[in-house]
Amino acid sequence: MTTILNGKNLRDIILADLKIRVEKFMAPPELAVILVGENPASLIYVNNKKKTAEKLGIVSHVIKFPQNVSESNLIKTIKILNEKKSTTAILVQLPLPEHIDKFKVIDAIAPEKDVDGLTPYNSGKLFSGEKPFVYPCTPRGILHLLEKYHIEIEGKNVVVIGRSNLVGKPVAQMMMNKNATVTMCHSHSKNLAEITKNADILISAVGKKIITENMVKENCVVVDVGIFKDENGKTTGDVDFENVSKKAGFISPVPGGVGPMTIASLMLNTVDLYEIQHNINIFK
Ligand code: NAP
Repeated sequence: MTTILNGKNLRDIILADLKIRVEKFMAPPELAVILVGENPASLIYVNNKKKTAEKLGIVSHVIKFPQNVSESNLIKTIKILNEKKSTTAILVQLPLPEHIDKFKVIDAIAPEKDVDGLTPYNSGKLFSGEKPFVYPCTPRGILHLLEKYHIEIEGKNVVVIGRSNLVGKPVAQMMMNKNATVTMCHSHSKNLAEITKNADILISAVGKKIITENMVKENCVVVDVGIFKDENGKTTGDVDFENVSKKAGFISPVPGGVGPMTIASLMLNTVDLYEIQHNINIFK
C-alpha cells in the first residue's frame, strides 16, 4: 500500500495552530514581500502567501517594483525594512531580473528578519551544524512532512536531485544533520538511475519530468519538489506519479504535497522570528 504524503492536510493543521499563537501576540507580526516585475508564477505565489498570512492575523505588505528597478533601490528598501521595528520578516521573491545580483540583495536582509533562511549568516549556521534563526521554507516543509508520517531519516540513503540554494543544498544539509547518508545529483550527474535506485528517500527538485518507475526501488519514499506546467498547461511535478506511486512506499503529489508545506513553513518562520525578536521563547 502506498501512502500519499498529504501536504494540504498538514498545512491546515499547522496554520490552525499558528492562528492561536498569533492571537496571543500584543501586535501582529508583519511579513514584507519584495516583488520585482510581472512574472506570472511569482504573482500567484505572492498572492497566495499574502492571503494565507492575512487569514492568520499576520500583516502582509507586498512591495512591488518594476522589472527595471536598480539593485541599489532594492537594497535601500531592504535596509529601511531592516530598521523598521514593526517589520518581522522580509522575503525577496525569486527569481530576480538578470541585471540584479540576487546575492547582494539577499545579503542585505538582516539575519533576524531573513524568513527564508538564505542570508550568509543563516545558511552559514545551517552548514556548520549550528541553529540558524530559521531554516529555508521548502526544506523545513519537507522535513516536517517526513516527520508527520514517522519516516526515519537517521542512517537512510537520501538522494537529492537539484542543488539550488533554495531547496537542494539546504535540504541535503538538513538530512545530513539528521545523520542520513546523502548523495547530491545535478545536471552533470552520470547514470542518475543507478544512484536513485539506491535511495531510501528520494527528493527531486529539478523542474522537469525526470523520475520514472525504473529509477526507484520498492517501498522507497519519494518527495517531489518540482512544480511546473506540462505541455497541456496542467500543473505537474518531476515524478511520473501514476507509475512511481505503484512502487513507492510513500510519495508526495503535485499539487498538494511540498507546495502547501512551503507556505506553512513561511508562516511558521514568520511567527518564529516574531517570537525570537520579542523574546517570547524564553517564557515557554
Ligand atoms: P533550480 O534553481 O531551478 O535548479 C534546478 C536544479 O536541477 C539544478 O541544480 C540543475 O542542475 C538540476 N537539473 C536540471 N536538469 C537536470 C537533470 N536532467 N538531471 C539532474 N538534475 C538536473 O532549482 P529550484 O529553485 O530548487 O527549483 C526546482 C523545482 O522546484 C522547480 O520546478 C521549482 O518551481 C520547484 N520549487 C517548488 C517549491 C515548492 O514549494 N513546491 C519551492 C521551490 C522550488 P545544475 O545545478 O547542474 O544546473
